[in-house]
Amino acid sequence: MPPIRTIPMNTVQPHLCAKALDKAYRKGEHKVPVLRGVDISLHRGEFLSIVGQSGSGKSTLMHLLGLLDEPDQGEVWLDGVRIDRLPMATRDELRNHVFGFVFQFYHLLPELNLLENVLSPLMIRHSVIDFWRKKRQLREQGMEIIEKVGLSHRVRHRPSELSGGEMQRAAIARALAGRPSVLLADEPTGNLDARTGQEIMSVLHKLNESDQLTIIMVTHDDAIASQAERIVRLSEGRIQSLEDAA
Ligand code: ADP
Ligand code: MG
Repeated sequence: MPPIRTIPMNTVQPHLCAKALDKAYRKGEHKVPVLRGVDISLHRGEFLSIVGQSGSGKSTLMHLLGLLDEPDQGEVWLDGVRIDRLPMATRDELRNHVFGFVFQFYHLLPELNLLENVLSPLMIRHSVIDFWRKKRQLREQGMEIIEKVGLSHRVRHRPSELSGGEMQRAAIARALAGRPSVLLADEPTGNLDARTGQEIMSVLHKLNESDQLTIIMVTHDDAIASQAERIVRLSEGRIQSLEDAA
């Protein structure tokens, strides 16, 4: 029998972490600070929700964590590697492979059907020739995630033929088509009624549990937030821990 490798707890590094993030936006002559020393750390497979008032910097923080924008100060680390100061091309590559994004409004392409929407990031990632060579495999990958979000019966439908909840599930499938390890969901239920929002939460829970997907979800809805494993509040530019949820 091979020896059992034991990893002391204190050497288990976080999957994603941010250290002392500062971000200010310029407003005319002035710089308006939004984030002022944000620390946050997640282990792989964690489901964290971030609550905070409108304008508190939740979206800004998501952009920094997902490498869509750069902090003024501070650091972002993934699996023990600092990722916020990498060359632009490396960051783009990393963003495309590691992070999936979901927003309040689904941003689906209206002229493409569901499967094409889901595959669109993979088309962009691969060269045309490469995409055609791997088309069967990528389609299977797309169909697999479409099934996971419960939309197998809508594959050929265009966004205009889908309900709000279905559009958000399609957007989740698209975000996950490239098999990222972190899903950044910014107000994913913000445009949905309570029941449909609950369906989206079920999908997120399922993906979190079955695929060890790390999820960071921003919401201003306390009932939605409390369904995550852990809640933090963004207030006055900093993260405040709340009691563990659920
Ligand atoms: P939240 O998502 O919590 O509502 P945001 O991160 O969107 O907050 O915004 C935080 C603050 O930063 C707001 O005052 C907003 O107006 C400002 N802000 C956000 N993005 C920009 C930007 N690109 N340029 C200038 N100001 C911005
Ligand atoms: Mg926002």
